[in-house]
Amino acid sequence: MTDITTVAVLGTGVLGSQIAFQSAYSGFPVVAYDISEEALNSARERFERLAATYRAEVPGAAEGTRVDDALARLSLTTSLADAAKADLVIEAVPEVLDLKREVYSRLSELASENTIFATNSSTLLPSDIVDFTGRPERFLALHFANRVWKFNTGEVMGTEHTAPEVFDAVMRFADAIGMVPIAIRKEKAGYVLNSLLVPLLNAGMGLAAGGYASVADIDKTWRIATGAPMGPLQMLDVIGLNTPYNILTHSSTGDQALAAWLKENYIDQGKLGVATGEGFYRYA
Ligand code: NAD
Repeated sequence: MTDITTVAVLGTGVLGSQIAFQSAYSGFPVVAYDISEEALNSARERFERLAATYRAEVPGAAEGTRVDDALARLSLTTSLADAAKADLVIEAVPEVLDLKREVYSRLSELASENTIFATNSSTLLPSDIVDFTGRPERFLALHFANRVWKFNTGEVMGTEHTAPEVFDAVMRFADAIGMVPIAIRKEKAGYVLNSLLVPLLNAGMGLAAGGYASVADIDKTWRIATGAPMGPLQMLDVIGLNTPYNILTHSSTGDQALAAWLKENYIDQGKLGVATGEGFYRYA
Protein backbone atom coordinates (compact mmCIF):
# COMPACT_ATOMS: atom_id res chain seq x y z
CA MET A 1 0.00 0.00 0.00
CA THR A 2 1.48 3.32 -0.99
CA ASP A 3 -1.54 5.62 -0.80
CA ILE A 4 -0.70 8.85 0.96
CA THR A 5 -3.61 10.46 2.79
CA THR A 6 -1.96 11.96 5.88
CA VAL A 7 1.24 13.96 6.19
CA ALA A 8 3.63 14.98 8.94
CA VAL A 9 6.39 17.55 8.62
CA LEU A 10 9.39 17.50 10.97
CA GLY A 11 10.80 20.96 11.56
CA THR A 12 8.63 24.06 11.14
CA GLY A 13 11.29 26.55 10.02
CA VAL A 14 11.43 28.37 6.69
CA LEU A 15 10.78 25.35 4.47
CA GLY A 16 8.98 23.02 6.89
CA SER A 17 6.27 25.59 7.56
CA GLN A 18 5.77 26.15 3.83
CA ILE A 19 5.59 22.41 3.05
CA ALA A 20 3.11 21.88 5.88
CA PHE A 21 0.95 24.82 4.82
CA GLN A 22 0.98 23.90 1.13
CA SER A 23 0.02 20.30 1.94
CA ALA A 24 -2.84 21.47 4.17
CA TYR A 25 -3.92 24.01 1.53
CA SER A 26 -4.12 21.11 -0.92
CA GLY A 27 -6.47 19.18 1.38
CA PHE A 28 -4.18 16.92 3.41
CA PRO A 29 -4.40 16.75 7.20
CA VAL A 30 -0.93 17.72 8.43
CA VAL A 31 0.87 17.22 11.72
CA ALA A 32 3.68 19.74 12.12
CA TYR A 33 6.35 18.66 14.59
CA ASP A 34 9.07 20.72 16.25
CA ILE A 35 11.25 20.37 19.33
CA SER A 36 9.80 22.91 21.77
CA GLU A 37 6.71 24.97 22.61
CA GLU A 38 8.75 28.02 21.65
CA ALA A 39 9.39 26.58 18.19
CA LEU A 40 5.67 25.75 17.85
CA ASN A 41 4.76 29.34 18.74
CA SER A 42 7.06 30.52 15.94
CA ALA A 43 5.36 27.99 13.67
CA ARG A 44 1.92 29.42 14.52
CA GLU A 45 3.19 32.86 13.54
CA ARG A 46 4.70 31.48 10.33
CA PHE A 47 1.38 29.83 9.42
CA GLU A 48 -0.49 33.11 10.01
CA ARG A 49 2.01 34.95 7.81
CA LEU A 50 1.71 32.24 5.14
CA ALA A 51 -2.09 32.55 5.28
CA ALA A 52 -1.75 36.27 4.54
CA THR A 53 0.80 35.62 1.77
CA TYR A 54 -1.43 33.01 0.12
CA ARG A 55 -4.40 35.41 0.21
CA ALA A 56 -2.23 38.06 -1.44
CA GLU A 57 -0.31 35.93 -3.93
CA VAL A 58 -2.12 32.68 -4.72
CA PRO A 59 -4.89 33.04 -7.32
CA GLY A 60 -8.29 32.34 -5.77
CA ALA A 61 -6.99 32.12 -2.19
CA ALA A 62 -8.53 35.41 -1.14
CA GLU A 63 -12.05 34.18 -1.91
CA GLY A 64 -13.83 31.38 -0.09
CA THR A 65 -12.55 29.46 2.90
CA ARG A 66 -9.57 27.59 1.46
CA VAL A 67 -6.96 29.38 3.57
CA ASP A 68 -8.98 29.00 6.77
CA ASP A 69 -9.57 25.34 5.91
CA ALA A 70 -5.81 24.91 5.50
CA LEU A 71 -5.17 26.41 8.93
CA ALA A 72 -7.80 24.07 10.38
CA ARG A 73 -6.07 21.02 8.87
CA LEU A 74 -2.74 21.88 10.55
CA SER A 75 -2.03 20.52 14.00
CA LEU A 76 1.17 21.21 15.90
CA THR A 77 2.98 18.87 18.24
CA THR A 78 6.20 18.28 20.14
CA SER A 79 5.46 14.53 20.12
CA LEU A 80 7.45 12.65 17.51
CA ALA A 81 5.18 9.65 18.13
CA ASP A 82 2.19 11.72 16.92
CA ALA A 83 4.07 12.79 13.79
CA ALA A 84 5.14 9.19 13.12
CA LYS A 85 1.50 8.14 12.58
CA ALA A 86 1.26 9.84 9.15
CA ASP A 87 1.50 7.94 5.84
CA LEU A 88 4.25 10.30 4.69
CA VAL A 89 6.73 12.02 7.01
CA ILE A 90 8.61 14.89 5.36
CA GLU A 91 11.73 15.91 7.23
CA ALA A 92 12.84 19.56 7.13
CA VAL A 93 15.12 19.81 10.17
CA PRO A 94 18.39 21.81 10.00
CA GLU A 95 20.96 20.81 7.40
CA VAL A 96 23.22 18.99 9.88
CA LEU A 97 23.97 15.37 9.01
CA ASP A 98 24.25 14.01 12.56
CA LEU A 99 21.06 15.76 13.62
CA LYS A 100 19.14 14.30 10.67
CA ARG A 101 20.51 10.82 11.38
CA GLU A 102 19.47 11.08 15.02
CA VAL A 103 15.95 12.23 14.07
CA TYR A 104 15.53 9.29 11.64
CA SER A 105 16.82 6.80 14.20
CA ARG A 106 14.15 7.88 16.70
CA LEU A 107 11.45 8.19 14.04
CA SER A 108 12.12 4.73 12.62
CA GLU A 109 11.34 3.16 16.00
CA LEU A 110 8.01 4.99 16.28
CA ALA A 111 6.64 4.72 12.74
CA SER A 112 4.89 1.77 11.14
CA GLU A 113 6.95 -0.13 8.59
CA ASN A 114 4.61 1.20 5.86
CA THR A 115 5.34 4.85 6.56
CA ILE A 116 7.27 6.67 3.84
CA PHE A 117 10.03 9.06 4.93
CA ALA A 118 11.16 11.91 2.67
CA THR A 119 13.97 14.36 3.30
CA ASN A 120 13.90 17.93 2.03
CA SER A 121 17.69 18.24 2.40
CA SER A 122 19.25 20.60 -0.14
CA THR A 123 22.85 19.42 -0.02
CA LEU A 124 22.92 15.93 1.51
CA LEU A 125 22.25 12.76 -0.46
CA PRO A 126 19.54 10.38 0.75
CA SER A 127 22.19 7.66 0.86
CA ASP A 128 23.96 9.67 3.60
CA ILE A 129 20.90 9.04 5.77
CA VAL A 130 19.31 5.82 4.51
CA ASP A 131 21.00 3.53 7.05
CA PHE A 132 19.24 5.37 9.88
CA THR A 133 15.72 5.09 8.49
CA GLY A 134 15.03 1.40 9.12
CA ARG A 135 13.20 1.26 5.73
CA PRO A 136 15.61 1.75 2.80
CA GLU A 137 12.90 0.91 0.27
CA ARG A 138 10.51 3.53 1.69
CA PHE A 139 12.91 6.47 1.96
CA LEU A 140 13.83 9.14 -0.59
CA ALA A 141 14.24 12.88 -1.03
CA LEU A 142 11.43 15.27 -1.91
CA HIS A 143 13.08 18.64 -2.42
CA PHE A 144 11.15 21.88 -2.51
CA ALA A 145 12.31 25.36 -3.52
CA ASN A 146 11.82 28.29 -1.15
CA ARG A 147 8.35 29.92 -1.60
CA VAL A 148 6.70 26.64 -2.56
CA TRP A 149 3.40 28.23 -3.59
CA LYS A 150 5.19 30.12 -6.37
CA PHE A 151 8.40 28.26 -7.21
CA ASN A 152 6.70 24.89 -7.24
CA THR A 153 9.18 22.24 -8.28
CA GLY A 154 9.16 19.01 -6.31
CA GLU A 155 12.38 17.14 -7.06
CA VAL A 156 12.03 13.44 -6.19
CA MET A 157 15.26 11.49 -5.74
CA GLY A 158 15.64 8.01 -4.30
CA THR A 159 18.60 5.82 -3.43
CA GLU A 160 19.33 2.53 -5.16
CA HIS A 161 17.12 0.92 -2.50
CA THR A 162 13.98 3.03 -2.98
CA ALA A 163 11.05 0.93 -4.20
CA PRO A 164 9.65 2.13 -7.57
CA GLU A 165 6.10 2.21 -6.17
CA VAL A 166 7.25 4.46 -3.33
CA PHE A 167 9.00 6.77 -5.80
CA ASP A 168 5.80 6.91 -7.88
CA ALA A 169 3.61 7.51 -4.83
CA VAL A 170 5.74 10.50 -3.83
CA MET A 171 5.68 11.84 -7.42
CA ARG A 172 1.85 11.64 -7.25
CA PHE A 173 1.82 13.28 -3.83
CA ALA A 174 4.00 16.16 -5.12
CA ASP A 175 1.52 16.65 -7.95
CA ALA A 176 -1.43 16.47 -5.54
CA ILE A 177 -0.05 19.37 -3.50
CA GLY A 178 0.44 21.55 -6.57
CA MET A 179 4.13 20.91 -7.23
CA VAL A 180 5.52 20.02 -10.62
CA PRO A 181 7.19 16.68 -9.84
CA ILE A 182 10.67 16.23 -11.26
CA ALA A 183 12.09 12.69 -11.30
CA ILE A 184 15.83 12.59 -10.57
CA ARG A 185 16.87 9.22 -11.97
CA LYS A 186 20.19 8.87 -10.14
CA GLU A 187 21.43 10.44 -6.93
CA LYS A 188 22.92 13.85 -7.63
CA ALA A 189 24.08 16.36 -5.02
CA GLY A 190 22.10 19.54 -5.70
CA TYR A 191 19.38 17.76 -7.68
CA VAL A 192 18.66 19.52 -11.01
CA LEU A 193 17.92 22.98 -9.63
CA ASN A 194 21.03 23.60 -7.56
CA SER A 195 23.26 21.75 -10.03
CA LEU A 196 22.31 24.48 -12.51
CA LEU A 197 21.95 27.41 -10.16
CA VAL A 198 25.02 27.20 -7.92
CA PRO A 199 27.57 27.31 -10.78
CA LEU A 200 25.75 30.30 -12.29
CA LEU A 201 25.72 32.17 -8.98
CA ASN A 202 29.37 31.36 -8.34
CA ALA A 203 30.34 32.48 -11.85
CA GLY A 204 28.51 35.79 -11.29
CA MET A 205 30.37 36.36 -8.02
CA GLY A 206 33.65 35.31 -9.62
CA LEU A 207 33.24 37.92 -12.37
CA ALA A 208 32.46 40.64 -9.82
CA ALA A 209 35.25 39.60 -7.43
CA GLY A 210 37.78 39.53 -10.28
CA GLY A 211 36.77 43.01 -11.39
CA TYR A 212 35.86 41.81 -14.89
CA ALA A 213 32.61 43.78 -15.04
CA SER A 214 30.39 45.75 -12.68
CA VAL A 215 27.69 43.99 -10.66
CA ALA A 216 25.02 45.81 -12.68
CA ASP A 217 26.60 44.86 -16.03
CA ILE A 218 26.98 41.20 -15.09
CA ASP A 219 23.28 40.99 -14.26
CA LYS A 220 22.28 43.10 -17.27
CA THR A 221 24.16 40.76 -19.62
CA TRP A 222 22.40 37.69 -18.24
CA ARG A 223 18.98 39.35 -18.38
CA ILE A 224 19.28 40.73 -21.90
CA ALA A 225 20.99 37.77 -23.53
CA THR A 226 18.85 35.02 -21.98
CA GLY A 227 15.55 36.75 -21.26
CA ALA A 228 15.81 35.78 -17.59
CA PRO A 229 14.11 38.24 -15.23
CA MET A 230 17.07 38.46 -12.84
CA GLY A 231 20.84 38.21 -13.05
CA PRO A 232 22.91 36.03 -10.70
CA LEU A 233 23.81 38.79 -8.25
CA GLN A 234 20.20 39.95 -8.03
CA MET A 235 19.21 36.35 -7.30
CA LEU A 236 21.87 36.13 -4.59
CA ASP A 237 20.45 39.22 -2.88
CA VAL A 238 17.03 37.52 -2.77
CA ILE A 239 18.45 34.23 -1.48
CA GLY A 240 20.52 36.03 1.19
CA LEU A 241 24.32 36.08 1.11
CA ASN A 242 24.82 33.74 4.08
CA THR A 243 23.66 30.77 2.01
CA PRO A 244 26.27 31.14 -0.79
CA TYR A 245 28.88 31.89 1.87
CA ASN A 246 28.12 28.58 3.59
CA ILE A 247 28.26 26.74 0.27
CA LEU A 248 31.57 28.39 -0.70
CA THR A 249 33.21 27.49 2.60
CA HIS A 250 32.19 23.82 2.16
CA SER A 251 35.51 21.98 2.23
CA SER A 252 35.22 19.70 -0.81
CA THR A 253 33.22 21.73 -3.33
CA GLY A 254 33.83 25.28 -2.11
CA ASP A 255 35.98 28.21 -3.19
CA GLN A 256 37.79 29.72 -0.21
CA ALA A 257 39.07 32.80 -2.07
CA LEU A 258 35.58 33.71 -3.26
CA ALA A 259 34.20 33.04 0.23
CA ALA A 260 36.78 35.44 1.73
CA TRP A 261 35.85 38.13 -0.82
CA LEU A 262 32.15 37.74 -0.03
CA LYS A 263 32.80 37.86 3.71
CA GLU A 264 35.04 40.92 3.64
CA ASN A 265 33.00 43.02 1.23
CA TYR A 266 29.46 42.05 2.18
CA ILE A 267 28.84 39.73 5.14
CA ASP A 268 31.15 41.52 7.61
CA GLN A 269 29.49 44.80 6.65
CA GLY A 270 26.01 43.44 7.38
CA LYS A 271 25.13 43.46 3.66
CA LEU A 272 23.24 40.19 3.46
CA GLY A 273 20.88 41.00 0.61
CA VAL A 274 17.26 42.12 0.34
CA ALA A 275 16.45 41.04 3.92
CA THR A 276 18.93 43.57 5.40
CA GLY A 277 18.25 46.34 2.88
CA GLU A 278 21.59 45.97 1.12
CA GLY A 279 23.65 43.28 -0.60
CA PHE A 280 25.04 43.65 -4.09
CA TYR A 281 22.35 46.32 -4.48
CA ARG A 282 20.61 48.77 -2.11
CA TYR A 283 16.90 48.36 -1.39
CA ALA A 284 14.46 51.02 -0.21
P1 NAD B 1 15.22 26.36 9.49
O1 NAD B 1 16.44 26.55 10.33
O2 NAD B 1 14.44 27.53 9.05
O3 NAD B 1 14.21 25.38 10.27
C1 NAD B 1 14.60 24.22 10.92
C2 NAD B 1 13.53 23.84 11.94
O4 NAD B 1 13.86 22.55 12.48
C3 NAD B 1 13.41 24.79 13.12
O5 NAD B 1 12.05 25.09 13.32
C4 NAD B 1 13.98 23.98 14.29
O6 NAD B 1 13.38 24.31 15.54
C5 NAD B 1 13.64 22.57 13.87
N1 NAD B 1 14.44 21.53 14.50
C6 NAD B 1 15.68 21.61 15.04
N2 NAD B 1 16.03 20.40 15.51
C7 NAD B 1 15.00 19.56 15.29
C8 NAD B 1 14.75 18.20 15.57
N3 NAD B 1 15.65 17.46 16.19
N4 NAD B 1 13.57 17.69 15.19
C9 NAD B 1 12.65 18.44 14.57
N5 NAD B 1 12.82 19.73 14.28
C10 NAD B 1 13.99 20.28 14.65
O7 NAD B 1 15.70 25.49 8.24
P2 NAD B 1 15.10 25.46 6.75
O8 NAD B 1 15.71 26.54 5.96
O9 NAD B 1 13.64 25.32 6.82
O10 NAD B 1 15.78 24.11 6.23
C11 NAD B 1 15.29 22.84 6.62
C12 NAD B 1 15.68 21.82 5.59
O11 NAD B 1 15.13 22.21 4.33
C13 NAD B 1 17.19 21.68 5.37
O12 NAD B 1 17.50 20.35 5.11
C14 NAD B 1 17.44 22.52 4.13
O13 NAD B 1 18.55 22.05 3.37
C15 NAD B 1 16.16 22.30 3.35
N6 NAD B 1 15.83 23.34 2.37
C16 NAD B 1 15.89 24.68 2.69
C17 NAD B 1 15.59 25.64 1.73
C18 NAD B 1 15.64 27.12 2.05
O14 NAD B 1 15.59 27.93 1.11
N7 NAD B 1 15.68 27.53 3.33
C19 NAD B 1 15.19 25.23 0.44
C20 NAD B 1 15.09 23.86 0.16
C21 NAD B 1 15.42 22.93 1.13
